[in-house]
Amino acid sequence: MSSASERRELLRAVYEEARACVRCPLHQTRTTVVFGAGNADADLMFIGEAPGANEDRMGLPFVGQAGKLLDKLLAEISMDRKEVFICNTLKCRPPDNRDPHPNEIEACQDYLRRQVELIEPTVICTLGNFSTKLLRADSTGISRLHGHEEVRLIGPRAVRLYPLYHPAAALYTPSTLEALRADFHRIPDLLALGPPEQPRSSGRSAAHDGGALVGRSPAPDGGALYEPVPEIDDAPEAPDKAPVAVGEPEPAAQLGLF
Ligand code: URA
Repeated sequence: MSSASERRELLRAVYEEARACVRCPLHQTRTTVVFGAGNADADLMFIGEAPGANEDRMGLPFVGQAGKLLDKLLAEISMDRKEVFICNTLKCRPPDNRDPHPNEIEACQDYLRRQVELIEPTVICTLGNFSTKLLRADSTGISRLHGHEEVRLIGPRAVRLYPLYHPAAALYTPSTLEALRADFHRIPDLLALGPPEQPRSSGRSAAHDGGALVGRSPAPDGGALYEPVPEIDDAPEAPDKAPVAVGEPEPAAQLGLF
């Protein structure tokens, strides 16, 4: 069992590795690897889809309009970004904000697995379809799953997985915003439940063993490693494309934040 500061150092090492990543073609078009930012010892973790143009420039997750909404919703539950950890399924921006491709998700999932294993969140909010499908290893879409928490094995640890609509989708659709807000307001109750019961062999040591992101779940439908899954039911999500003026890239900022 390692301390919070040891885990923070290990997370920095994963970050350094990700910064040099050439595992998929997105390294050719990215400006910055957006590893994630926030508290490396957070109980609450948010996993979005992929960096957009602003994130790619700034090196930080959720700095555009969707991020502003995320900040607002966090404030409504008396929390802020410094308390949580925010990252994405993909660490590099897909050109033109297109959807992540299966080979990109597969190439990138090891970083996410190690982030989850080192941070050890109690509650993981997946934002939108891509992270929800990846962490559940199932093709069921977010419109069916949002607001329904479940205990899932992510790597060796059980977490409370809580799918939410992606904030970018809520920017343009009032009913989606209403649902996202209602679901969001239940987060404090989920955090108050504390960590779910852990499988007997859980531990932090698997963070570097190259194991699967999604382990066998306590639920009978627990899936295996990521497999490309067909879309089932959801309307396309509005990408976070609204242009927002930002400053120069600050790649060091994400390192400073955890
Ligand atoms: N949308 C995401 O999924 N992630 C970001 O970082 C920004 C927008």
